[in-house]
Amino acid sequence: MADKAKKVFTMAYGCQMSERDAETLTELSTKEGYTKSENLEDADLVIINTCCVRESAENKILGKIGELKKIKEKNPNLKIAVSGCMVQQPGALERLQKRAPHVDVWTGTHNLHEFGNLLGQTISKGKAAEVWDKPRETTESTPLAEKGKLRANVNIMYGCNNFCSYCIVPHVRGRERSRPSEEILQEIKDLVESGCREVTLLGQNVNSYGKDFDQEFDFADLLKEVDQVPGLLRVRFITSHPKDISDKLISVVANGEHLCEHFHFPIQAGSNSILERMNRKYTREYYLSRVATIRQYIPHASITTDLIVGFPGETEEDFAQTLDIVEKVHYSQAFTFMYSKRSGTPAALMPDQIPLDVKKRRLQKLMTLQNSMSLVWRQRMIGHIYEVLVEGPSKSNPDRFTARTRGNELVVFDADKSFIGRLINVKIVDTNSWTLQGELAQ
Ligand code: SAH
Ligand code: SF4
Repeated sequence: MADKAKKVFTMAYGCQMSERDAETLTELSTKEGYTKSENLEDADLVIINTCCVRESAENKILGKIGELKKIKEKNPNLKIAVSGCMVQQPGALERLQKRAPHVDVWTGTHNLHEFGNLLGQTISKGKAAEVWDKPRETTESTPLAEKGKLRANVNIMYGCNNFCSYCIVPHVRGRERSRPSEEILQEIKDLVESGCREVTLLGQNVNSYGKDFDQEFDFADLLKEVDQVPGLLRVRFITSHPKDISDKLISVVANGEHLCEHFHFPIQAGSNSILERMNRKYTREYYLSRVATIRQYIPHASITTDLIVGFPGETEEDFAQTLDIVEKVHYSQAFTFMYSKRSGTPAALMPDQIPLDVKKRRLQKLMTLQNSMSLVWRQRMIGHIYEVLVEGPSKSNPDRFTARTRGNELVVFDADKSFIGRLINVKIVDTNSWTLQGELAQ
């Protein structure tokens, strides 16, 4: 009788890039004989792809790694692999190995593609750990994608050159590297062939795509080509750094057929002195002028943002400027964070670090304001018809189905499985701050 197939269970923390890397790790483990499992209890291998962008993420992950120790005590054959940004931080590997000796495999961000080899090493050596201090070019060209998914993330570039003063990402992801467009297009065509209908193009700053190429070919050029891939219904992209968004890009989105009119356009803070110390390289006035251009080309464009409260030295006046921006731009959604000190970044050494209670109060105020803005944004959609891509049954009520508008707003409505993967029209009939209620429209 054949051996029972070994199972792998994967957890990804943090951004879409981390999710995408976790997918590659899972696919690499399937090449080593594992099959995917939806639950931890069944697993022979658990992969945790980590995030270190804020301390809260790191604490959550350390808690999870701690829990796995108990599971491994009951099941000593369980293999635990920890990878990604947290492991990649300078000096982190040794510290983590001491703290969690029950982990079998450690990898950083740059040697992700070596994961199969490292898994193999655990058979002969018991444990394996490797972190490269820099990316080595050839390894990044072949990310492995899970086939058959309706929506997929596709890396168009890696790394970041911006060094915002609070951010650890450039320290753990290296400098900007754009993937050749032919490779990206081939990956998307393969995904579409396997059933994918929507791709999200990923980069820390998609607007600097191609700056490292010899010939002139920028992100707008890439978008035009992706828009032409037969069978692809929707194209999204994150993240647009405000300093680099071009009129050409906005006009390509405005004129594209499958290019969704949604810009994730993080301002981070509303005050010029904070923006300067964050090293964001734009002013609030410049940001607002780019928003005006987006809305001039695409009046109904949905704009979302990331916001940080409690950056070192943030005064009540500075914070009031962030609230003011939220009202002026009218974001459809915002991701709001308390500033978190990251060692090795310049902001960690800045004077006037803000006390936790002040950060909490500001975050609460900001979230309350954004929730009311999100509600008004969605209330304005009531009575109108929108094209949505149907994703699948809602988690809370399997008779209702979830879908997204081109602006990335979530809609639930009555449907059945035959609608999955199709573009249909729904009329919005009700809403709260986060979820629109719809009904099928003719
Ligand atoms: N490249 C993207 C952001 C990637 S990190 C951009 O520039 O917009 C995702 C978000 O995490 C950031 O936009 C920022 O809002 C938040 N973030 C990053 N470092 C942080 C820190 N030290 N404390 C709190 N939030 C942080
Ligand atoms: Fe971090 Fe700034 Fe790069 Fe975004 S652009 S990843 S916030 S350094």
